[in-house]
Amino acid sequence: MKYTITPVSRNEKKWGTVCLVGAGPGAGELLTIRGMERLKACDAVVYDHLASQELLGFVRKDCRIIYAGKEAGSHSMPQEEINHLLIGLAKEGLNVVRLKGGDPFVFGRGSEEILALKEAGISWETVPGITSAVAVPELAGIPVTHRGISRSFHVITGHTLTGGREQNELKAYAAMEGTLVFLMGFHSLSSITEDLIRGGKSPQTPAALIENGSLLNQRVLRADLETLAAKAKEQGFHTPAIIVVGEAAAFNLQPETVNPRGPLDGMTVGLIGTEHFTDQMEIALRKEGAKTETLLRMECLEEKGKNAMASVYPRLGTYTWLVLTSVNGVRLFFKGLFESGLDIRALGHMKVAAIGAATCRALLERGIRPDLVPEEYCSASLAQALFKVLHSKDRVLMARAEGASVKLAQMLIKAGIPFDDIPLYAVKGVPSKRMEEQLSLCRVLIFASPSGVRAFKQAGGFCRPEDSERPLYAAIGPVTAEAMKEEIGKTADIIAESYHIPGLVKAVIDGTAPLP
Ligand code: SAH
Repeated sequence: MKYTITPVSRNEKKWGTVCLVGAGPGAGELLTIRGMERLKACDAVVYDHLASQELLGFVRKDCRIIYAGKEAGSHSMPQEEINHLLIGLAKEGLNVVRLKGGDPFVFGRGSEEILALKEAGISWETVPGITSAVAVPELAGIPVTHRGISRSFHVITGHTLTGGREQNELKAYAAMEGTLVFLMGFHSLSSITEDLIRGGKSPQTPAALIENGSLLNQRVLRADLETLAAKAKEQGFHTPAIIVVGEAAAFNLQPETVNPRGPLDGMTVGLIGTEHFTDQMEIALRKEGAKTETLLRMECLEEKGKNAMASVYPRLGTYTWLVLTSVNGVRLFFKGLFESGLDIRALGHMKVAAIGAATCRALLERGIRPDLVPEEYCSASLAQALFKVLHSKDRVLMARAEGASVKLAQMLIKAGIPFDDIPLYAVKGVPSKRMEEQLSLCRVLIFASPSGVRAFKQAGGFCRPEDSERPLYAAIGPVTAEAMKEEIGKTADIIAESYHIPGLVKAVIDGTAPLP
C-alpha cells in the first residue's frame, strides 16, 4: 500500500470551526434543528441582542458565552472586534457558534464575518435561520405575497435612509407593486413614509408596524402610509420593529381562537429539577402555551455512591427486593452492575419496585418489568404498597440518592423488615447564571424534589421580600411541599395531585386559572 504524506493544512492545527447560526426572529422555538444541534455541541457561543437568550439554555455548561450585542444606537462591539473575537476563539481550538438574529445573511453582516474567517483560514459553516423579514409580518397576519395582490416582496434596510441618494432609491421603491418590508427602519419611519408618498405611493396604501414580532410582547400597529408614523409615536412603539407597506399589509390572518396557544398562553414558568425533569416539563408546558425558564438544575454526582455500591453487587443474592426510585438511580445501578462484571441475570431472584412512570420506563428499557409500582408516585405510597407484600424474611435493597426521603426507611424499620439503603449518587443544585432576571419573569415556580427546594434556598432564590407579586410555588407532591414549609416556612400554592409531569401541568393550569 502506498502512503502519501500530506502537509498539515492550517485547519488541521486543531483550530476550531465557526458556525454562523440563524436564531430566528425571536421566539426560541423558531430555531432550526440543525441550529440547535450546533448550539448543544459548541465550546463557545457569541450572540447578539436579537438572538433569543432562551437559546443559551441549550449550550453545555462549560461553554463560553460571550455577548457581542448591537442595539441600534449603542454598538457595543464594533464589527472588526467581533471578527477578531471569532478568529481568536477558533484559533484557541474552540468550536464556536455565532448566534445571530433571524437569518445570518440577511442584514446581519454575517457575510462579512465569513469573509474575515476565510481570510484567516478558519473553517466555517452557516446554518440558515427564519428571517424576521418574512416571519414577523406573517405572525402579525400579513402574507408578504398574495396571488393577485402582491407578486413580489422587497426587503429594504432603513438604516441609512438619510441622504439624497436614498431618497431616490425610495422613489424607485414607491413605484413598485409588491410588498415593501423595511428592517432597521424604525428610527427613520417618518422619512420613509413621507418619501414613499413623495415618490408616488398613495397616502392610503395599507401599512403596518410590528414590534417584538414572534415574542410574547409583540405589538402590531395598522394604519395607512400617511398616518403610520404619527400613530407609532403616539402609541410609544419602539425597536426592534419592522415596517410593512403595500396592499398585503391590509391582511390580518391571525388565528381566531381566543386562546390559540393553550390555557397557559403568555405565562412563564420557572423550573427547578433534574435535566430530565426540566426537559420533559418544558415540552409539556409549551403545549399549553407557557414558556419555561430553568432556574436551577439538579445534577447527579455519580462518584458519591461508587464505594458504597461496590460492596453491594457481590451480595445481590442476599436480597429479595430491589427498590429504585428515580431514572438516575436505575441508570447508575445498572452501570455499576455491568462494571462489576454482572448483568441482569444477577437480579433474576429479586422482585423489583419502582416509583414513577419514567423510572419504570428506564427499567423496561433494561429488560426488567417492575413487580410493584405504587399508584401515587411517592415514597410513602411505595412503603404502603410494599407492606402488603413483604414478609419478615424478605430483605430489601434500596439504591437511591443521598438524602432521599427517610419515610420509606422509617416505615420498614417499624415493620421489622431488614433493608439496606445505599446512596447511589448525590444531587447538587447548579443555579442558572441568570437566576435573578429569570425569577422576575416567572409567574409560577415548580419544584420537583425536596433537594431542589433546599438548593434553591441556598442559591438565594427565596430571598426576595421586595417582590410584591411573588411567583406561585408549585410542588410535585406533598413531600416536596412539606420541604417548602420546613425550609422556608412557605405553604405551597399548588400541589400536584398526581406526582408526575401531566399531573403537575394540570395542577398549574388549575392553580392559575382566573376565577370564574
Ligand atoms: N438577520 C436578521 C435581521 C437583522 S437586522 C433577520 O434575518 O431577521 C435587524 C432588524 O431586523 C431590526 O432592526 C428589525 O427591523 C428586524 N427585526 C429582527 N427581529 C425582529 C423582531 N422580532 N420583531 C421586529 N423586528 C425585528
